[in-house]
Amino acid sequence: MHFALCIEERDMWYIVSIILGAIVGSFLNVCIYRLPKEESIIWPGSHCPQCKKPIKVYDNIPLISYLLLKGRCRYCRKSISYQYPLVEGITALSSLFLLMRFGPSLSYLIYFVSVASLMVITVIDLQHQIIPDVISLPGIGIGLLASLVIPQITFFDSLKGVLLGGGSLFIVGTLYQWLFKREGMGGGDVKLLAMIGAFLGWKAVILTILLSSLVGSISGIMIMILKGKDFKYAIPFGPFLSLGAVIALFYGESLIKWYLYWNR
Ligand SMILES: [Zn+2]
Repeated sequence: MHFALCIEERDMWYIVSIILGAIVGSFLNVCIYRLPKEESIIWPGSHCPQCKKPIKVYDNIPLISYLLLKGRCRYCRKSISYQYPLVEGITALSSLFLLMRFGPSLSYLIYFVSVASLMVITVIDLQHQIIPDVISLPGIGIGLLASLVIPQITFFDSLKGVLLGGGSLFIVGTLYQWLFKREGMGGGDVKLLAMIGAFLGWKAVILTILLSSLVGSISGIMIMILKGKDFKYAIPFGPFLSLGAVIALFYGESLIKWYLYWNR
């Protein structure tokens, strides 16, 4: 009890953000597993993917249950993918970093929604090479509406972000298809970048394109060297766009200032 009284309000918010992040991360795992199968994300409750037994509430505590069960199902003892605690942990940390950046505010909640969506898109794109419209399309709408109520971005910034994000990748994709006679940029990437533009604005879209192309091409070359795949080996681009967007969200202003400083 004494501890609870000593704890500062700021620390309390940090703890709340980590717990909220882990719980949301647990829900994101459900989305990652069910959305590609077009199953309901609400019903039925969680069950073991191997033996199909329903998972009890006390075995479904984010991060903690995985540790207590040593990464195995209580019933069939088959191992549970490390992806579950990984997603929960990254989501919990994202929630903490966003709270440290934006404080306990509406901006924190909105950016947390956008980062959580990017998290689901990243894992689904890595596993299935698709970016579900059920996340990116509502995301565009939510981002546009959010710009009306948070101080970080204006509605026109957000709208320009959607047009620039959707438009630029669409043009690149069409050119690529015309030049090489095959699809390079999926329609899912176009909608994803439009969503990123809605949440973060048009400047962040430019930064996201630069950062994701840079990291994407370095990773692509490394994969080709390591695995000996040729240039036609398609690497999903969604995870790179998502990573670029998160860097733009946290460091965008510093990066733009730094760039302008060196190009006076
Ligand atoms: Zn099981």
